[in-house]
Amino acid sequence: MESMLHNLAKFYAALDEALQPLKRACGDCGECCRRASKLQVYPLELQNISRFVKNDYLIRKFIDFANNKVVKIWGDVEGQCPFQDGDRCSIYAVRPYFCRVYGPYNYRGKNLLKGCVYCGHSIIYFYREELPLYNEFVNYPPLNLPV
Ligand code: SF4
Ligand code: SF4
Repeated sequence: MESMLHNLAKFYAALDEALQPLKRACGDCGECCRRASKLQVYPLELQNISRFVKNDYLIRKFIDFANNKVVKIWGDVEGQCPFQDGDRCSIYAVRPYFCRVYGPYNYRGKNLLKGCVYCGHSIIYFYREELPLYNEFVNYPPLNLPV
């Protein structure tokens, strides 16, 4: 487990570097964490977050937020991520893959909220395989992906 979490941290570092050229300043917006497009959190990521926050109540809330094996906190309904603190992400260092690519990558060109600094500057994608390092993400480290 330790090595998997270590690999995940290394993976996030590589992903952040790959996204760096597309990065824009969000300021204190935080709207996407209040209500937004789509976020999935995989089991290994959840364990990583769980170790970081050390708060079972918050983790349960995070999971219950969508009541799904693959946690969906952004989706068809509006709702605020339990890890949003004011306008900021309180687990920024360990935020999941899909939080990292949101903004720089825009699903079908319809994923961004009105007024988002990434509007007009993001890369439109249609399949997850088009996302940066996505194949590495799902294949290594193993993320216990649901079938
Ligand atoms: S984990 Fe952080 S970045 Fe992701 S939705 Fe929650 S508050 Fe936002
Ligand atoms: S990605 Fe867009 S919606 Fe989310 S905090 Fe940044 S500016 Fe706001």
